[in-house]
Amino acid sequence: MAIYNAFLMFAQAAVYFAVMMSLLRVRGTIGIGVFMCALGVMHFLETYLASVFYIQLPFGIVSPGSTVLFSGKLLMILLLYIREDALVARQPIYGLLIGNFLIVALVMILRNHDTVVVTDGRIPDIAFVDEMGLLMVWGTILLFIDSIAIIVLYERIGVWVGRNPALRFLICGAAVLTFDQAGFFLALHYVSGAPWHVFFGGWVAKMIATVVYTGFFVAYLKFFNDERGWLTNRPLKDVFQVLTYRERYEDLLEATSYDHLTGTLHRRQYDQEAPEILARSLKDGRTLSLLVIDIDHFKQVNDRHGHQVGDKVLTTIARMLKENLRSDDHLYRVGGEEFVLLCERLPAEGAVSMAERIRKSIERFSTIYLPEKVTVSIGISSAPVDGENIEDLFQRADVRLYEAKKQGRNRVAGP
Ligand code: GH3
Ligand code: MG
Ligand code: MG
Repeated sequence: MAIYNAFLMFAQAAVYFAVMMSLLRVRGTIGIGVFMCALGVMHFLETYLASVFYIQLPFGIVSPGSTVLFSGKLLMILLLYIREDALVARQPIYGLLIGNFLIVALVMILRNHDTVVVTDGRIPDIAFVDEMGLLMVWGTILLFIDSIAIIVLYERIGVWVGRNPALRFLICGAAVLTFDQAGFFLALHYVSGAPWHVFFGGWVAKMIATVVYTGFFVAYLKFFNDERGWLTNRPLKDVFQVLTYRERYEDLLEATSYDHLTGTLHRRQYDQEAPEILARSLKDGRTLSLLVIDIDHFKQVNDRHGHQVGDKVLTTIARMLKENLRSDDHLYRVGGEEFVLLCERLPAEGAVSMAERIRKSIERFSTIYLPEKVTVSIGISSAPVDGENIEDLFQRADVRLYEAKKQGRNRVAGP
């Protein structure tokens, strides 16, 4: 029976996560209000379940209201913050707080009514509502603190845990829900004399919920994620002050470093980085090779098939180049159909065989991916033998590229 209950709760968490995450995902299309309303309306079921609906699990008695819905809500607020920013995340946080106070206020007025019985035997259970009133206010204040704490903690542990969103998510969830369970139990203990094993059972359930939701989150990141930037790095002091654009600024900066069409680094990046990379290599006594890669007869491709196909050729070739990169390589698009590949720790002979590999794979695969065979010519130079500054190095490689073109194209010319 307890196992069956656990299975049912897992199913609830799965449905809850799937629907809420979908709403969060399509917020750009349907608006963030849909996500927020869905989040808010769940509060009704959560409160009701937490007050009367308890089930037996292998380790204790728990309520799906606290385990599935409350934990889920908190983690959804965190995800909302990660996807958007503090300014957006605080909207449901404040909305839930104010909404709950409004409920209490309305109940205070409502209780003064003389009600009439319409369905047999059903009368409003004002005593029950009263009993819940205090806990609800306390729970809401706790949620308010929890929400802020989980966001602040998420930023805080980014420094230690590094760039792993799932691990950050797990730690934040576990820590804040532990705090929450302690806070809520204290109130429950003093108000209704709840025994200690209720604390423990609820705590274990929340920890399991955190693990399950983290599992869903990991699965989401793996199978559905096509959005960038799950890692935030916002200065703490700004989190609930006026929104800072730092993360967006960093995203923007990153986006502008890359060429839109091919996803390789820009010419500007080359001008900036290449001299530094070369200087570093020379200082450490390492060799560095520079490859200039130029598409053969690219103008004809454009003329024959049009510019759009030309662009497709460019992206396809860039993709094939990227597939051949080692971690010490830097690929730049320096001209219309001209790329520079800067390879740290690669002597001339290695560069020649790497260039040959690139040339062959483009020759072979272009016939598969593209309307006609496309080839490249590659000129190579190496530091320090060919020069000790980046202009000389590029010049040497460019001269060799020209030789390769003269000799009939689709070839590699090295030192
Ligand atoms: P080769 O290098 O073998 O001597 O011949 P080529 O035809 O490639 O010669 P060239 O370098 O003079 O021609 C480059 C052409 O690339 C000219 C231009 O129309 C085209 N091109 C440059 N940038 C782009 C781009 O972003 N998209 C497309 N479709 N074409 C581009
Ligand atoms: Mg060309
Ligand atoms: Mg060219």
